[in-house]
Amino acid sequence: MNKAPKVGIVGAGVVGLTTALLIQDEIKGAQVSILADKFENETTSFVAAGVFRPGTSFSGPDDGTTKQWVSQSWDHWNDLVMSSDAPLAGLTYLSGYIFSKRNPSVVRNHLIEDVVPIYRSATEEELKICGDGWKYGSFFTTLLVESRLYLPWAKKKFLSKDGIVRFKQIQSFSDLKNDYDVIINCTGLNSRELCSDNKLVPIRGQIIKVEAPWVKMAFYGDYDAYILPGFEGVTLGGTRQYDSFNLDVCKYDAAGIMDRCSELLPALRKARVIRHAVGLRPHRSPVRVEGEIMEFGSDTTKVVHCYGHGGYGVTCAPGTGKHAVKIVKQFLMTNQSKL
Ligand SMILES: Cc1cc2nc3c(=O)[nH]c(=O)nc-3n(C[C@H](O)[C@H](O)[C@H](O)COP(=O)(O)OP(=O)(O)OC[C@H]3O[C@@H](n4cnc5c(N)ncnc54)[C@H](O)[C@@H]3O)c2cc1C
Repeated sequence: MNKAPKVGIVGAGVVGLTTALLIQDEIKGAQVSILADKFENETTSFVAAGVFRPGTSFSGPDDGTTKQWVSQSWDHWNDLVMSSDAPLAGLTYLSGYIFSKRNPSVVRNHLIEDVVPIYRSATEEELKICGDGWKYGSFFTTLLVESRLYLPWAKKKFLSKDGIVRFKQIQSFSDLKNDYDVIINCTGLNSRELCSDNKLVPIRGQIIKVEAPWVKMAFYGDYDAYILPGFEGVTLGGTRQYDSFNLDVCKYDAAGIMDRCSELLPALRKARVIRHAVGLRPHRSPVRVEGEIMEFGSDTTKVVHCYGHGGYGVTCAPGTGKHAVKIVKQFLMTNQSKL
């Protein structure tokens, strides 16, 4: 290609912004635009606690690809956490425990045990840290990406490299058919409508942000209980309600979250609540990272999909983004219909 390729990314959540920065790095001279109808605190990404910890069901099209997404993502975040930008981008290392009273498999994670620097069984003494009855446990070190800081940092970095950011709501990819050589679809849960994709399902998550500066470690317990200290406060979670589109805060969920988290750390009962929040995780198995040539009458548009990260979009945005960039490069060089 002689002229600068034009790449349009739809979506300004963690997946869209991270993929946009990777395009700028890997396709020199490309003219890159981000188009979105929601930014920063309006996105699902903003609700995430941002811990690097894929669930064991997180899945790409095959085991090899899943592992590659996870390990490339770790490398990417690990480079950033070691850079001078880390505090501005909201990155920090985080260590903690995962405990269960019932199920030994809950405390294992085959996707990250060989990736993060520490992942080991908890000792008998450590199993008593959060009170009696915990039978199984692991200690691990991972990292945390605070979206409240990362999203504006990534947008600023993108703009500083001549990226273009536009507020735009699209009804269909045909709206953009004449504007870009390739479009990357990072629209999260909205791909359900944009791509008529019923495999994409919301998993509703509710959290409480509390002021508890004495909490310096992560704790996970049974029934989706988690305590994750970040830059702003401590995130207490959570819920995982399949196929629920309800974005309202539920007081019964909030009470359940506080009960389960204060069973782990009783002092949390007295912590000041900063806010309650709800988000819909865009769950799809497998996550869709795939090229498609869309036909609109006599026109065609090359689209690279990158959506469906469920509860692990912060964790795996860099790995899936790299995969999407690879397909974009192939699209720019060839006319293949399915990659
Ligand atoms: C309670 C909770 C806790 C979580 N904790 C973690 C965690 O600790 N670690 C982790 O890895 N993940 C976590 N997640 C999951 C994570 O938040 C998601 O996987 C991630 O935010 C998905 O990012 P995204 O960029 O795909 O989507 P989004 O953040 O939803 O962004 C979608 C973007 O697409 C744009 N868009 C959509 N449709 C259109 C349209 N028609 N026209 C124009 N623009 C459009 C939107 O405006 C938006 O900018 C959590 C989620 C929840 C709800």
